[in-house]
Amino acid sequence: QKAEWAKLVNEQTVSSDGVHVELAANIGTPNDLEGVINNGGEAVGLYRTEFLYMGRDQLPTEDEQFESYKAVLEGMKGKPVVVRTLDIGGDKELPYLDLPKEMNPFLGFRAIRLCLEEQDIFRTQLRALLRASSYGNLKIMFPMIATLNEFRSAKALLEEEKANLTSEGVKVAEKIELGIMVEIPSTAVLADQFAKEVDFFSIGTNDLIQYTMAADRMNERVSYLYQPYNPSILRLVKMVIDAAHKEGKWAGMCGEMAGDETAIPLLLGLGLDEFSMSATSILKARSQILNLSKAEMEELAEKALQMSTTEEVMEAVKAAAKLS
Ligand code: PEP
Ligand code: MG
Repeated sequence: QKAEWAKLVNEQTVSSDGVHVELAANIGTPNDLEGVINNGGEAVGLYRTEFLYMGRDQLPTEDEQFESYKAVLEGMKGKPVVVRTLDIGGDKELPYLDLPKEMNPFLGFRAIRLCLEEQDIFRTQLRALLRASSYGNLKIMFPMIATLNEFRSAKALLEEEKANLTSEGVKVAEKIELGIMVEIPSTAVLADQFAKEVDFFSIGTNDLIQYTMAADRMNERVSYLYQPYNPSILRLVKMVIDAAHKEGKWAGMCGEMAGDETAIPLLLGLGLDEFSMSATSILKARSQILNLSKAEMEELAEKALQMSTTEEVMEAVKAAAKLS
C-alpha cells in the first residue's frame, strides 16, 4: 500500500468526478520541510511559529524569525505557506514571559489576546514576516480569533508595520492574504460577517471541538465527548465553508480532523478547499480522495447534517465511503 501511495507524490488531488482540493502540511520548524516535499505536500497550511519561542530562555529576535520564515518560503518554491502568528498560552507555556497562573488556561490570556496586549512581541513577529514575504507565497493567519475587533486590531498592526518597513525602504510583497483560524464557536457562528473582511479561513478543529463540546482536549476522562463527527461540529464546519464561498474566499482546515479518513469524505462533501495535516498523512489522504466522488460525498454530508449522533454519522460514512 505504501508503495502505491508513493506513486502519488507528484499528483494533483482530484476527486473521482474531477474536483481539485489542496492537500497541505502542518509544520513546526523549517526542518519539517523535507517531509512536506517527500510526501507531496501542495502547500504549508499551518506553520506553528510558537516552536521558535519555546525551549529557550528569551524571545527570538526579529532577524532569527526572519531567517526561519524565509527558509520555509524559499523551501516551498512559491507554493503557498500559511504562517500562524504566535499561539502561546493554553497548553504551551513560555517560562521567560512570566505570565500569571490561570484557573482555566485554555480560556485565558493566550494567542492573539496576548499578542494584542504585548504589542512589542507581536510587532517584532509581524515585521519578520513582512520582511520574509518577498521570498515566496506568504499568507498570514491569526490564531484564537473570537471577535471581529480582534481581527481588525491585528490587521491594523500589520498595516502599520508594513508602512514602517516600506518607509525604511524594505521590500514587502504586494499581496499577502490575511486569514484567521476558526477555532472558537463565536467565530464559526459569525463566519458570514468575518468572510467579508478576511481572505481565508482555516478551521482549527482541535480547539473548535473542545470549545464546542466543553471537553478539554487533554483530559482523558472527558475524551468520549471529543467528537469530530458530532453533527453540531459538522454544522459549524458547514457554516464556515459556506460563508467563505459566498464571499468568494477559500476555507481550509488545519486541525487533526483534516487528515482523518472518516472525516475526509464528509469534509469533501461539505466543500472544504484545503486540507492541512501532518505530512505523513498526505499520500494516504490523496489516495482516498482520488477514489471518492465529490457529488456522492455531498449527498452523504447533506444526510449527516440532519443526523443526531456521532455514531449515526460514523455508520453512514463507513457505508458511503467504503471504509472498513
Ligand atoms: C487547532 O486548534 O485545531 C489547531 C490546528 O491549532 P493547535 O492544535 O496548535 O491549537
Ligand atoms: Mg488551536
